[in-house]
Amino acid sequence: MKTSHHADLGATLEQSRSGLRDNHRRSLMRLLFVATGSALVVFACLQILSGFLWLGLGELAASVVLFVGTWRLKTTRHLQACIYAYLLTLFSFFLVIIVLPNASVAAFVWVLMMPVLAYLLLGKREGLILSVPFMIAGGILYYLYLEDVASPHALIDLLNMVLCGALMLVFVHLYEVRREEAEQRLVDMAQTDALTGLANRSNFQGTLNRTIAECERSGTGFALVVMDIDHFKVVNDTLGHEAGDHVLRNISRCLTERLRGTDFVGRLGGEEFGLILRDVKPADAFELMDELRQRISSSELTYGEARIRVTASFGIAQWPDHGRQAESLMRVADRCLYSGKRAGRNRVAGAGSNPRQMEILAGETG
Ligand code: GH3
Ligand code: MG
Ligand code: MG
Repeated sequence: MKTSHHADLGATLEQSRSGLRDNHRRSLMRLLFVATGSALVVFACLQILSGFLWLGLGELAASVVLFVGTWRLKTTRHLQACIYAYLLTLFSFFLVIIVLPNASVAAFVWVLMMPVLAYLLLGKREGLILSVPFMIAGGILYYLYLEDVASPHALIDLLNMVLCGALMLVFVHLYEVRREEAEQRLVDMAQTDALTGLANRSNFQGTLNRTIAECERSGTGFALVVMDIDHFKVVNDTLGHEAGDHVLRNISRCLTERLRGTDFVGRLGGEEFGLILRDVKPADAFELMDELRQRISSSELTYGEARIRVTASFGIAQWPDHGRQAESLMRVADRCLYSGKRAGRNRVAGAGSNPRQMEILAGETG
């Protein structure tokens, strides 16, 4: 069997939980650092010209930190900490500029940026947790800033800001909820075989790679099984493609029903399935697969008037005895499967201590 490298969608989803994928968050953070640093230089000049020397110098110092940070962000392993440090400082700064003496009434608009940035960089949960307290603080400070709140004019200003801020938060939250759901649906679709609902080939290979990495750490073994329905073409040729699909769905159900919660099953393509049996001794793996083999061969499926019986052949490779890498393990399981086919089909075949020697371990004779 040919094996190819597929993107690990599970890991991709994990990365994208924070609104953006890791590399996108990195690029956005760099852009924000440059934009904020440049804006700070302009504001610093204006502050100094307005007589706020220390504030201006502080802003200049902050812009230097940001420009250096832009360069460091390329490779830093502490991206999440940088995002928090940046957002906490920026949001605090937004609050300070509301209460500065002679602050512009428009300074509050920066509070509206809080949910946008927090959700984009941190995702739904952490974005909400960070932006809500800062937005409330912004509202309170703005209220305190408006000296004559009782006047209709000030009240309108306050209501405009508070309402706009609240709606902004709600819309950003709803948008992020929908985006996450849509992305989850896409990832599910990309990982699932539409006919059987099982993991598809790329999902199976991702899981196999993860299982190998986990077992390298824990030192436990697992068995990789490749299963192929025997003479499946005959079902299609005699009863039609629909009947073939019916058989595939039933076999998939049969596989998932029998396996333990820690095992994993996927459709590798056509009428071929892959199974990962975690933490299992070779003898137990053979026993389990032989039970499955018997179950499949003894069950009769009905499709309209037709009664269908199929058998399947299984090839088993044990990790790490028959290969440490996914490719080599797959190759051994595949070779076992085809030695079972050659031996007459409806067989469970595994590699012995020498992976080049196949053993037909169970199956019907003749
Ligand atoms: P063997 O015992 O050697 O495995 O023989 P086989 O007939 O099972 O294998 P072969 O590779 O010759 O044929 C596999 C068939 O599976 C051919 C293809 O039309 C059919 N098939 C592949 N995918 C699907 C599918 O999604 N639905 C249906 N109905 N048939 C499919
Ligand atoms: Mg087949
Ligand atoms: Mg096949």
